[in-house]
Amino acid sequence: MTRRDVRYDVVVIGAGAAGMMCAATSGLRQRRVLLIEHYPVLGEKIRISGGGRCNFTNINAGPANFLSHNPDFCKSALARYTPRDFLALVERYRIGYHEKKLGQLFCDDTARDLIAMLKAECDRGNVEWRMPCSVDAISREDRAWRIATPLGAVCCDSIVVATGGLTVPKIGATPFGYRIAEQFGLAVVAPSPALVPLALPPDALARYGDLAGVAVDVEVADGLAVEANRDLLEQALRNLGENAAKHTARGSVVLRAYGNGNTVTVEVEDSGPGINPEVQRHVFDRFYRGERDAHGFGLGLAIVRESVRTLGARIELDSSPGEGTVFRILLAPARVREEVPTA
Ligand SMILES: Cc1cc2nc3c(=O)[nH]c(=O)nc-3n(C[C@H](O)[C@H](O)[C@H](O)COP(=O)(O)OP(=O)(O)OC[C@H]3O[C@@H](n4cnc5c(N)ncnc54)[C@H](O)[C@@H]3O)c2cc1C
Repeated sequence: MTRRDVRYDVVVIGAGAAGMMCAATSGLRQRRVLLIEHYPVLGEKIRISGGGRCNFTNINAGPANFLSHNPDFCKSALARYTPRDFLALVERYRIGYHEKKLGQLFCDDTARDLIAMLKAECDRGNVEWRMPCSVDAISREDRAWRIATPLGAVCCDSIVVATGGLTVPKIGATPFGYRIAEQFGLAVVAPSPALVPLALPPDALARYGDLAGVAVDVEVADGLAVEANRDLLEQALRNLGENAAKHTARGSVVLRAYGNGNTVTVEVEDSGPGINPEVQRHVFDRFYRGERDAHGFGLGLAIVRESVRTLGARIELDSSPGEGTVFRILLAPARVREEVPTA
């Protein structure tokens, strides 16, 4: 440590979600804080998260949802700062949000709103910045931490390494945190990816590449059974599924099955543009290529109708422009054979 080193209470390295939150909280507790970030753009991983809208919390999240070699590790942190606390912060900044499903909360507009919120919290805590600025070395000297950077060295009482994981190096990820842990003799659990890209061979990519960004939900009621030719039913559902996904640029396709005693209904619902009534009249005709199928051969839905007819089932179409489409196949339930007890 030299007399020219600038002194801080806390230095946080890495201005991602964790680093900004930590720096802001320390600053708001009246600590003098420096935040060092080597990448020139702030919060890039937040920006790309949740498809650009950031799934910023889950209101039902608790310790049981975290994977760790030590399952108790996250308990105290989650008890002291809950998803509701973060939600209160989001609401204070008037950031619109919505629940997608099962407690997942997303921004209405853009994840950039959260980056601006975290930056504003850092400003409220008078956090000082070095960005872009790399870290050359960290050492322990005279009971303080010394951090050497190309913009001069600083020293501090507490240092927080919040440089994140290895995902997406082109937006700033580095193994810096692991190296520092090794330098100071901390055991490192070998990292393994939690999120990997889905890579397809070229022919599958040509066929399914347009489906990127479409989610498929499956909802099946308990205890359903139908007596049907499996290949024909599969063919019909595959064509309906491909058709639905093709017309859903973003959003979801739902494959749903339920019964009411006399009928088992299997339906494929998309959140696409819907089909206008004139097109609906021809949509099952062979070689008909309506506005929803300008590039195909016009056979997909004709094959569905033939398969359903051969199955002895019925098909219904429910669609309005702008409100998505549901195709429903109505099947006879399987007759349940009663077990006759043997004497
Ligand atoms: C495609 C994608 C989608 C995701 N979607 C979601 C989602 O919807 N919801 C969710 O909760 N999570 C999501 N995640 C995960 C989430 O983004 C991360 O868990 C989170 O961003 C981690 O925050 P962090 O602050 O620990 O690390 P990071 O956000 O990675 O921040 C680390 C920071 O440290 C900086 N840094 C690295 N090395 C150095 C160095 N040597 N010196 C100085 N600075 C350095 C980096 O530039 C970066 O700014 C997603 C991740 C990806 C990749």
